[in-house]
Amino acid sequence: MPATVVIGTQWGDEGKGKVVDLLAADADLVVRFHGGNNAGHTLVVNGEKTVLNLVPAGVLHPGRVCVMGSGMVIDPDVLLGEVDALRARGYLADDRWLRVSEQAHLIMAYHRLIDRARERLRGAGNIGTTGRGIGPAYEDKMARTGIRVGDLFDEEGFREALARNVREKNGYLEALLDERPLSFEELYSCCEVHRERLRPFVADTGAEVRAALAAGQRVLLEGAQGTMLDIDHGTYPFVTSSNTLAGSAAAGAGLPPRLIGRVIGLTKAYTTRVGSGPFPTELANALGDRLRADGDEYGATTGRPRRCGWFDAVVVRNAVALSGIDGLALTKLDVLTGIDPLRVCVAYEIDGAHRDMPPGTLRAWTRIRPIYEELPGWRESLGQARSLDDLPGAARRYVERLSALVGAPVVLLSVGPQRDQTIRLGDVF
Ligand code: GDP
Repeated sequence: MPATVVIGTQWGDEGKGKVVDLLAADADLVVRFHGGNNAGHTLVVNGEKTVLNLVPAGVLHPGRVCVMGSGMVIDPDVLLGEVDALRARGYLADDRWLRVSEQAHLIMAYHRLIDRARERLRGAGNIGTTGRGIGPAYEDKMARTGIRVGDLFDEEGFREALARNVREKNGYLEALLDERPLSFEELYSCCEVHRERLRPFVADTGAEVRAALAAGQRVLLEGAQGTMLDIDHGTYPFVTSSNTLAGSAAAGAGLPPRLIGRVIGLTKAYTTRVGSGPFPTELANALGDRLRADGDEYGATTGRPRRCGWFDAVVVRNAVALSGIDGLALTKLDVLTGIDPLRVCVAYEIDGAHRDMPPGTLRAWTRIRPIYEELPGWRESLGQARSLDDLPGAARRYVERLSALVGAPVVLLSVGPQRDQTIRLGDVF
C-alpha cells in the first residue's frame, strides 16, 4: 500500500495536529519530511492539550513509529526537551518509536542568533520568522556548509566542521549583525551531550520507511506549514525556507514518488496567516477579531495572534492543483457558527483582469481585489455533529460550495478540537 501525504493548503495552522493525530490511529509510521520547530501543532486528547513542534503528531498513539526525515532541520535542544516532556506524560515509552534521520540538518545556536538579529535589523520590513534558526540552517544546507545529525558521530570531522562554522558565523555576527561572538568550546560541549542523548534514535530513516512500505505497513507523511508558505510557490519572500507541497514529501522522507498514493489537503473553513505578507481576504476588523477569539487563533509555537479572514478558494484551488489533492480535511467549521452571511473569495481581480489562480509576483499579490460570493450562515453550534445529516442545511451547503470551488471532495470534516468531533466522509489510506 502506498503512503498517504497530509499537507496544508493555506498558510499553515489548518489544524494539522488534530487531523494527523486522528489518522495516525490507522498508521504504523508517521513521517515528517521538512521544516523544523517553526511548525507547531496543538493536539487535544482527553481534554489535555499537547503542543508539538518537532516530533510527528502520531506520537500520542503508543506503538506508532514517528520518523523525522532527511528533509528536516532539527534543533537538538528542542527535540530533546520535547522527548522529555512527552516521556514525563507516559508517551514515547520505547526508543524505537522515534527515528531521526542521520541526514537531517542540525540547527545550531548561531542559526538562532542570526535569525533573530536579522529580523531585528529588518525592523518593520521583517519577514515574521519564528526566530528559531530554521532559515539560516537551510541556507547552510544549500551552501553545503551545514552539519548533519549523523556528523555528530564522527568526532574528528564534527569538531573541524563546527570550528569552521563558528569562525565564519562569529565574523558575520560581529561585523554585520552587531552581535557578540559565540564560544566554540561551549557549543562543542553542548553537542557532545546531544550526541549521546540522540544516539538511540538516529537511523537511515529513508531505508526504514521504504522497508515498512514493502512490508505492507501504513505510512502517513506529515507536512508542516502550508502551500502558500512553500519556498517556490508561496507568497515569496513571506514564506518558509522549505518546500511544503506533496511533491517534496518523497525527497524529504526518502521515497520514490510512485510510493505516494493519496494526498490529503488540510483546509480551514476560513483563512488565517501568521506573520507578515499578502493576505487578500484578511478581515482587519471586529469580525476578524471574532474569528481569532472563537477559533483560538494564536500561534502554537510563538503565541502570536494570527490574522484572520474569509475563506479564499483561489488559494486552496491552487493547492489542489499543485499537490494533486485527492481529498480535503476541512477543519474548524464550528468556528463559523453565528456569522451570517458568510463570504467566500471565488476569484481575484488584478488590475481589471479576472484570475482563478494566484499570481506569481509579490507586486501582483499586493494589487489583488478579492471577488466574493455570499452564502447564508447558521446559528446552531456544530460541536455535537457526527454525520452530515447532523449539520444545519446552511453548513452543509457551505461545505459543498467550498468543495466545488476548489475542485476536491471533503473526506473529513472537523467540528471541534477533540478526536471524536469529526465526520468521516471518505477514505484516507
Ligand atoms: P496545526 O499546526 O495545523 O495543527 O494548527 P494549530 O496548532 O493552530 O491547531 C489548530 C487549533 O485548533 C488547535 O488548538 C486545535 O485543537 C484546534 N482545532 C483543530 N480542529 C478544530 C476544529 O475543527 N474546531 C475547533 N474549534 N478547533 C479545532
